[in-house]
Amino acid sequence: AKGLGRNHVCFYAPQMHEKILERVTLDSSFRLALQRNEFVLHFQPQWSRERKMIGVEALVRWIHPEKGMIPPGVFIPFAEESKLILPLGRWVMQSAMAQLACWQETTQLRDLVMSINVSVLQFTTVDFVSEVEDALTQTGVNPAQIQLELTESMLVRDQLDIIQKMQALKKLGVLISLDDFGTGYSSLSYLQQLPIDQLKIDQSFTRAIEESDKQASLAASIIGLGHNLGMEVIAEGVETQAQFDWLKNHGCDLYQGFLLGRPQPSNEFVITEDTN
Ligand code: C2E
Ligand code: CA
Ligand code: CA
Ligand code: CA
Repeated sequence: AKGLGRNHVCFYAPQMHEKILERVTLDSSFRLALQRNEFVLHFQPQWSRERKMIGVEALVRWIHPEKGMIPPGVFIPFAEESKLILPLGRWVMQSAMAQLACWQETTQLRDLVMSINVSVLQFTTVDFVSEVEDALTQTGVNPAQIQLELTESMLVRDQLDIIQKMQALKKLGVLISLDDFGTGYSSLSYLQQLPIDQLKIDQSFTRAIEESDKQASLAASIIGLGHNLGMEVIAEGVETQAQFDWLKNHGCDLYQGFLLGRPQPSNEFVITEDTN
């Protein structure tokens, strides 16, 4: 058996072998991390035109005992591929709602809308709507203060299933936001059929605003499109005052980005509301 193992290894290039080992290590440490509760949520504020904090987006982080904080860009793709996004996604949903339930007891944070990222795989499962319903019941939060962020790229699948799921979610009373908008290829007629409350302009368009008028016109047309479809429009990745001002002049409803606040843990959550 030993010889066979050695022969097998010979088929792979050394880097490939390393990749497989890395993969196995990541897989077992990720499973362990789920058991050990090594994940935390950070919350990034979302602001109105008057610079009032009206919502937050929950963003997951992995606090690894040796490696420290690992950003989601590193482990979400792996979690998707290995299907471990399903238990992680359930944890995120539960925890974000539990946090909101806790904030609903304070006077200043009680009306916040909690935005929760949903992965493609999560949305595809048959149980998704009932999982949302269970989490709502268990935490007792007001469904109108829960917003699910779906990405435009997940709309390319079975359209009937998507429409039915979204309608079932709307029946539960939650809000639906379309994340990373402008990077996918959804047609206008399709968008019109979907019960979407909010369009989220992808960061790449926000960044492009200051590059050229031509680039900026893309962001302006997304704002116009959203409003024509009766949706609220939020810009993400707002880093400069110039971007904020431009977006505000072009009718954008909400703003999220480092200019206004970084993602932070709930215990450090302070109200930085501008009072003028
Ligand atoms: P996303 O949903 O597009 O989230 C926005 C990302 O942009 C976050 O990165 C946020 O920290 C970052 N960001 C916010 N403001 C700015 C800014 O002004 N400038 C720049 N350069 N970046 C900004 P983060 O937290 O690293 O998350 C990356 C991605 O990981 C998210 O992109 C989302 O796709 C995924 N993700 C995060 N949390 C979850 C989760 O709980 N579930 C799922 N399925 N995916 C998640
Ligand atoms: Ca998001
Ligand atoms: Ca986004
Ligand atoms: Ca993104």
